[in-house]
Amino acid sequence: MSGCFQLISAVTLAKLIKEECPSVKHVSLGGNYITRLADDCMKEWHPFFEYIDSIMMYDGEEPLARLLEALDSGDDNLDCVPNLCHAKGGKIYKNHRIEQTFINDTVPDFDGFALSKYFMPELILPVYSSRQCFNHCAFCTIPGATGGCYRKMPISRVFEIMCRLNEKYGTRVFSFVDETFEGKRMEQLADEINASGKTFFWHGETRFSPTLSTEVFNKIYQSGCRQIQFGLESYNQRVLDLMKKNTRVDWIDRNVHDCLNAGIPVHLFFMIGFPTETKEEALNTLAYTENVLNYSKQVCGVPYSTRGFTNFGLVMGSDVWNHPDKYGVSVMPKSQYEDLRLEVDYVSGTGLTLNEAKSLSDEHHIDFYMQEVINGSDTIDLPQRLHISEVTWILDSIHAVRYKGHLTKVKRRLTSLNPADRIWLDSKTSVVLVEPFAYFYNSEYHHVYAVSQLVYLKLARLLEADCSISLILDQGDLELTRAIEELLHYGLLNTNIDADYVMHDNGFQLVKSSFVKEVGRSKEGLRVLLSCATHRMCAVNDFSFALLSLFEKPITKNEVRDILKKEGLSTNEEQLNKLVDNCMKADILQLIR
Ligand code: SF4
Repeated sequence: MSGCFQLISAVTLAKLIKEECPSVKHVSLGGNYITRLADDCMKEWHPFFEYIDSIMMYDGEEPLARLLEALDSGDDNLDCVPNLCHAKGGKIYKNHRIEQTFINDTVPDFDGFALSKYFMPELILPVYSSRQCFNHCAFCTIPGATGGCYRKMPISRVFEIMCRLNEKYGTRVFSFVDETFEGKRMEQLADEINASGKTFFWHGETRFSPTLSTEVFNKIYQSGCRQIQFGLESYNQRVLDLMKKNTRVDWIDRNVHDCLNAGIPVHLFFMIGFPTETKEEALNTLAYTENVLNYSKQVCGVPYSTRGFTNFGLVMGSDVWNHPDKYGVSVMPKSQYEDLRLEVDYVSGTGLTLNEAKSLSDEHHIDFYMQEVINGSDTIDLPQRLHISEVTWILDSIHAVRYKGHLTKVKRRLTSLNPADRIWLDSKTSVVLVEPFAYFYNSEYHHVYAVSQLVYLKLARLLEADCSISLILDQGDLELTRAIEELLHYGLLNTNIDADYVMHDNGFQLVKSSFVKEVGRSKEGLRVLLSCATHRMCAVNDFSFALLSLFEKPITKNEVRDILKKEGLSTNEEQLNKLVDNCMKADILQLIR
């Protein structure tokens, strides 16, 4: 159980195993999150022990072997198993702790996992090159739950493991799960991969570092690195120093610039409201990350950069929790209903309060999108491309809280399209069948949409038959039609509607989408517009921007020409076509026949 989102399913599974599998002798939980819960929140007893027998805290390799030996020997006394938290006589006991000094370098075994059922365009396997972390950030407790010191695997072995997984499972894509994959070790891995000529793709999380240069990022890109996640935390030196982040703002600037210019998307993690942080400092970090995303997309042509943020959480076991005075905060006691909460409320002496930090974070997350839902509108616009944890957005769409509960007004109706047009699955869309739904997932937009498997089967037959819009409408199947309209709306299906629209002069209308947002200015002073539905962007000059306001209502190009003429302005046909073309491609304008 490495994250809190696994809690309910893991304990439910444990309960079912206890009920259904009487031959199972012992159920033990392990992982980062459950270790921290056992460490900080479980003192004398916890109801989980009605469903489980033990919790394996910290690293599990050696203790697990000792637990198996003890169980095999038929000895009920588990006191000798290190790192074990176990129940006996209505009480829980935490055994002596050992620190693991080695790094497990065996090739991971994924046999038995339903690898084809993950929401991925192709198989991605997790690997690691190190355990623990070499830094001690004041807010972080993640490495503490691993135990021991920072340990590294020789990069040659890491590469060997990737090759073995590639041979066995055919995976080319690897997700490095190190707490921090050191920059210089990323470079060594890149050298190994590049020398081998293998086609691998990978991503990982690292810290800003003065050793990372343009040349290094170029090598890393060449080796298949397609995202680097950085723990930015703040774009303010004073706050970074207080966090004990050991990072300099000028390293951030240089690393982000060089990484993006090498073609590698970044993901920036940060927090709002670290003790003493002021509103201005927090807003500055938010603005910096927005600029990075725009720079990435507009200047470097790298559309996949993302950011992820939330308000600062004061976590039990962190340096801030251990020494609140040093950070000017008072820790509030937890209520009896918060036994599984690792965060505690606090009052800060200076800077943003906890509530102000939450509001600022929510405000920037919610943006205009949730507001519509809150207002009860039946139209919702998708959020900007923020880093939303996969679990959150998959669950959101499965439970349909946002995507279905407030059904969208579909902006592209099938009846508005050319009857001869065809539909097809977007190349970035994969479909996963999990009873009773078929989940469509677009890896570019991170949209997930669920339809019933019955509808999916009908749709699959139509897609196979390369059928036209008229044929779909002829079916008279409302459920299917509606599903196709929504899949088109979210960019999961495509049509050939943009084939030659620019050449038409009459017979169609353009409408400015209501989900378009101006997100900033490019270096050249152009206004950058974002389609919140598909996250495509385009840049227009001030005149074109003013011209776009004409499209707020359906309008033909002829009508645009007439309006310009009345205003005494001549139409530059080439420029008008270019504007329409760019805006159509970026989903800023839509075609309405
Ligand atoms: S935040 Fe990252 S760098 Fe800092 S201690 Fe935690 S894992 Fe290490």
